[in-house]
Amino acid sequence: MPDIPVWNKCNNKCLMCANTAGFSLNTPGDYGLLKQAYRLEKYLRGAGAYRKNARTAGAWNLTGGEPTLNPDFLKAINYFRRRLEGEELTLLSNGRRFSDPDFAAAFAAAARPPFTLAVSIHGPTAAAHDAVAGVKGAFKETLLGLKNLLALQAAPLIEIRVILHRLNYRRLGATLGFIKRLMRGRRYRVVVMHYEAEGSGVKNRKKLEVRLSATAKRVNACKSSLAGFGEARLYHFPRCLLLPALRRLAIVSLPPEDRAYPPACSGCRDREVCVGLMKPYLRRYGAAELKPLPLKD
Ligand code: SF4
Repeated sequence: MPDIPVWNKCNNKCLMCANTAGFSLNTPGDYGLLKQAYRLEKYLRGAGAYRKNARTAGAWNLTGGEPTLNPDFLKAINYFRRRLEGEELTLLSNGRRFSDPDFAAAFAAAARPPFTLAVSIHGPTAAAHDAVAGVKGAFKETLLGLKNLLALQAAPLIEIRVILHRLNYRRLGATLGFIKRLMRGRRYRVVVMHYEAEGSGVKNRKKLEVRLSATAKRVNACKSSLAGFGEARLYHFPRCLLLPALRRLAIVSLPPEDRAYPPACSGCRDREVCVGLMKPYLRRYGAAELKPLPLKD
């Protein structure tokens, strides 16, 4: 289902943010409750209104910027939840605003299931996380926000995302260990993903650039750790770069228009269930890393 931009500004400055600099310059009034309702009603009438993932199955993604900074955020969550009753909603947030316990409680009350809150953790320490988030103190607030939500009786399902790039992929094992300790005893999902080279990700390419074969190798090295999560998913990884035991975690995590299947994929047995390559990735690096899976082992 479509990505719904709930707000266009952010209080983090993540190096790999997929948004362009121009997005934050849009008029804030475009994201108020009335405009949100106008766009959703238009979409529900079949008249378009959203640009990204508009024809993709799955959850409705409430994105930003940082959605929680929208002055109408709680009203918007109430509206989307009511208007899309029973539909899976996923809110992408840095989690920092939930460091206010009253705000966290109001959000949890509005975010009735099926609802997932996806929060990214960039490393196992404040220094590692804040270096990627671009704001000192971001890690502390994100953790406090998670703690406040986890203390509530009725909180949405929490998904912790680890977005891998050159600055943090070598620490994946330590980051997964940190997440396990942080979330011990809770029901949650962990998602490990290769970053998308869009927006700031392109601007910061020199700092972030790393090949899929390198991040997949690190994911493979964390096989045992990943098996210890109640639910784990891998986004944007071609299945042929993953160990057989991890391929069941790999999700077709991009809409058709963002995926590429080079000629090598046509003879691969997993072609129909694989995300293939991200189009910008294929343009930059080609397909030499892929190892098509034989029809029979
Ligand atoms: S060869 Fe292509 S279809 Fe097969 S696993 Fe690799 S990326 Fe996926």
